[in-house]
Amino acid sequence: MTNRYFYEGTTGPWELVIGLEVHAQVVSKAKLFSSASTTFGAEPNTQVSFVDAAMPGMLPVINEICVEQAIRTGLGINGEINLRSVFDRKNYFYADLPAGYQISQNSQPIVGKGYLDIELEDGSTRRIGITRLHLEQDAGKSIHDQHAENSYIDLNRCGVALMEIVSEPDMRSSEEAAAYVRKLRSIVRCLGTCDGNMDQGSMRVDVNVSVRKPGSSFGTRAEIKNVNSIKFLAQAIDYEAERQVAILEEGGEIIQETRLFDSAKGTTRPMRTKEHAHDYRYFPDPDLPPLLLEASWVEKIRKSMPELPDAKKARLMKEHGLQAYDASIIVGETETAAYFEEAVKALKSREPKSVKLLANWLIGEVFGALNREDKTLEKCPIPAANLAGLIDQIVEGVISGKIAKDVFARMWETGNEASALIEEHGLKQVSDEGAILSVIENVLKDNPKMVEDYKAGKDKLFGFFVGQVMKETQGKASPEAVNKLLKGKLDRN
Ligand code: ADP
Ligand code: MG
Repeated sequence: MTNRYFYEGTTGPWELVIGLEVHAQVVSKAKLFSSASTTFGAEPNTQVSFVDAAMPGMLPVINEICVEQAIRTGLGINGEINLRSVFDRKNYFYADLPAGYQISQNSQPIVGKGYLDIELEDGSTRRIGITRLHLEQDAGKSIHDQHAENSYIDLNRCGVALMEIVSEPDMRSSEEAAAYVRKLRSIVRCLGTCDGNMDQGSMRVDVNVSVRKPGSSFGTRAEIKNVNSIKFLAQAIDYEAERQVAILEEGGEIIQETRLFDSAKGTTRPMRTKEHAHDYRYFPDPDLPPLLLEASWVEKIRKSMPELPDAKKARLMKEHGLQAYDASIIVGETETAAYFEEAVKALKSREPKSVKLLANWLIGEVFGALNREDKTLEKCPIPAANLAGLIDQIVEGVISGKIAKDVFARMWETGNEASALIEEHGLKQVSDEGAILSVIENVLKDNPKMVEDYKAGKDKLFGFFVGQVMKETQGKASPEAVNKLLKGKLDRN
């Protein structure tokens, strides 16, 4: 993934221009214009109504839930909700599209202009324009790998509601494109309007990429179809940018075409040229009147909106003094934010220092361990309240941060609480001054030469003494107490 805005070619820098079309499957029990079920993974062709199969004389009836979900999503991306929108027929032939057309929205979509703010790793934010969001039907699936000569068709997906969310060509690097998709995904998940599962195809991205010399007008773009992971999205963009720069620098021309991403090779290859744009012969679907929304309904939906990631981030920063970067990671997934907030509630002390420590342990230790075991937070063996319990033990000085790592590993293994494990394995920090003092005295007695050198001005040796005391106490001495007592001892003598 690159966050370079400019590719250094042999003829100087080139700027990337990226616009994304995201297809997001609407969370709804029934399809956009029929009552057939949308459950994923059902036996082929068991969820197909006469409308979906395009039987003659069947009429579409709009599903109110899908409309509500589109409005909710529109509000979540700061979009203008159009109280009047129109469904059009987009005509093309495809084996898994029995009607010979897809019902979509062309010139009058349900949601107009909006935007998303994305955060980049360097801490900066950028606003990415959204052109529109419209509702449309999904097609069925053609299955080519079950028979030597024949292809099969599964119409279960046919007619399922999709939201197509089209961005402005505002992104300038693969890092920005990845941040945009992540942000969009966290919003739809938070709203419950799309499950965002890219690997199941419920969120797919068409990636438009072009390059240009800085300051000149947009170049010709290639469109990479149906990219289904954020990693692939970044790879496809970086590959495409290099491919286009190489062509242009050799004096060639980019042809406007649709390409496919090959995830095994990390490259893109042509699918069909779009030199003469498709003529879909759009016209308003005569079976569907314009969709008219009551402003009061839109307001009602607006009032029922949950706290969105941006607002949650601002609140966490304000309430607990979290850093922007930590906060944006925590609100990135609804589950992470819920886990964090549950843990904060369970903390004994909610001082910013404790909350910050909790955030560090969540982002560092918990995420690290989850990644190592390829687990998601739902499968985390340490419940939120137990992580809070561990932080309490550190904050109260029962264990040092170093011993806490050991306790954490045991918590991960056993699912037990920190306090019980500390008790069981005798990991309590020793802060009894008398006990520490006697260890210190022994250490000083055993190292007379070092003591002499220290007193002669070799300050660095202080660390050596601390280390020895820690070693003697198996790391359990309170570092603060050791520092204080050692200083007193060495300076007094
Ligand atoms: P189409 O309907 O043919 O797909 P659109 O004009 O609706 O074309 O654009 C589709 C997407 O392509 C949008 O996300 C837009 O931002 C993006 N896009 C348009 N022009 C460019 C360009 N020159 N380079 C990169 N992306 C572009
Ligand atoms: Mg397109």
